[in-house]
Amino acid sequence: MKKSIKPSPKCDQGGGQISDERRRGGATELLDLIVIGAGPAGLFCAASASGDGVKVLVLEKKRSPGRKLLVSGSGRCNITHDGEIRSFLDHYGDAGRFLRPALLGFTNRDLVAFFEDRGLPMIRMEGGKLFPETQRSRDVLEVLVEECEAQKVDIKGGKTVTSVEKLGEGEVEGGGRFLVACGDERHRSRLLVIACGGRSYPATGSTGDGYSFARSLGHSIAEIGPALTPVRIKDYPFSKLAGISLTSASISIFRGKKVKEQNGDVLFTHQGLSGPGILDLSRSIRAGDVLRVSFVGDKNREDLEQWLRDRSQKDGARNLRSVLADLGLPARLAARVLEIVEIPQDLKCASMTREMRIGLVDRLSGFPLVVEELGGFDSAMVTRGGVSLKEVDSKTMESKLVDGLYFAGEVLDVDGDTGGYNLQAAFSTGILAARSILKRLSDQEGAQ
Ligand SMILES: Cc1cc2nc3c(=O)[nH]c(=O)nc-3n(C[C@H](O)[C@H](O)[C@H](O)COP(=O)(O)OP(=O)(O)OC[C@H]3O[C@@H](n4cnc5c(N)ncnc54)[C@H](O)[C@@H]3O)c2cc1C
Repeated sequence: MKKSIKPSPKCDQGGGQISDERRRGGATELLDLIVIGAGPAGLFCAASASGDGVKVLVLEKKRSPGRKLLVSGSGRCNITHDGEIRSFLDHYGDAGRFLRPALLGFTNRDLVAFFEDRGLPMIRMEGGKLFPETQRSRDVLEVLVEECEAQKVDIKGGKTVTSVEKLGEGEVEGGGRFLVACGDERHRSRLLVIACGGRSYPATGSTGDGYSFARSLGHSIAEIGPALTPVRIKDYPFSKLAGISLTSASISIFRGKKVKEQNGDVLFTHQGLSGPGILDLSRSIRAGDVLRVSFVGDKNREDLEQWLRDRSQKDGARNLRSVLADLGLPARLAARVLEIVEIPQDLKCASMTREMRIGLVDRLSGFPLVVEELGGFDSAMVTRGGVSLKEVDSKTMESKLVDGLYFAGEVLDVDGDTGGYNLQAAFSTGILAARSILKRLSDQEGAQ
């Protein structure tokens, strides 16, 4: 069902800044808007800004659009989340405030309605995540590309933008304020949207170019790093438990003192920890941090100690290992923890000494694991950091520094939790930029 776009002849990738000679002549048709990047933010922005004679060109590095969208949600595309849109604001760290106008202006319900109106209904899955009913990212991409086609957006694939420039009045023959180079090829437009995504999963085309373009136009970039990424643990003791998961475990991050605590599902991997609870926290985790993971749900140290004391009295003849199963502890995890604290696997509850109990309580209520490193950009689902939000108007997505320049999607210093929050942000910021652009173009027309 994948929609292919017509690949353009491979463009020269060698261009840097545009020479005066090239700037003067041979420029292509003057466009109203150029969007760099055909991810969900760029495509949705282009489709929403196009039509009514507005000429929009999307330049995409890859031969086909939406490569990252295709791998999202393991190819099933967790497009957004159920619930009140205001509850979304807590899922983007400090960026929630900035996203408020975008999210309230185009909500999760608006997004669902957009796709439903075009024949792609959504279904609610575990924990409130929304997916297309077909559970195929490809179908989401197809709707976006068809919408672009319907609105006569020109999407050019295989076009790596190599530089962008903002020019003074009359600097480009035939007018236009932005000159966008794809090697030797140039395009000029009145307005420009940078929607190049972040730096994670570089094979999908998102290699961080948007940061360079923004920087070249005077913007600052908040330090970038991998986010929504698994962590590798030093001297990891649970490699044989890879594949086992804990539901709603309490996870605390310590860097000298406690930095953060959150509950979430944890997955043991061969080299460390993953699962939504770890991925969501990863934006706050740094190498060297100690993670304390509770294996016993909501029970705190004192509760657990009391519970074990009670069991020693009431279930003295029972095997400690089988009693731990009553706490919801997976059997293999219980066996491994007993091994680590050097308690015999067949110990009866009544034979548990005070030292044994304290050692067990220590490990079960907050097993300490030292972070060796976070997964790199190759395994991170999103990038934290990006175009500084202080320099972008949250009500329009327009740059506060460069008139006519807009940003949308992950290129901004925005990263959300797992659960559909990142795609919702891409769509909401994309359409907000488009609406602001349309208003601006119609105001300009009215003034002429
Ligand atoms: C494995 C994985 C699974 C994910 N699953 C989910 C999920 O289920 N739900 C969710 O909400 N989020 C998910 N995400 C995150 C989500 O996919 C991204 O946040 C989202 O795609 C960002 O959209 P965007 O349009 O801003 O950027 P992108 O989708 O990254 O698109 C940017 C586009 O710009 C193009 N580009 C870059 N540089 C240039 C250049 N120089 N010239 C021309 N084009 C350029 C790129 O090729 C790319 O196509 C997942 C991410 C990954 C990696």
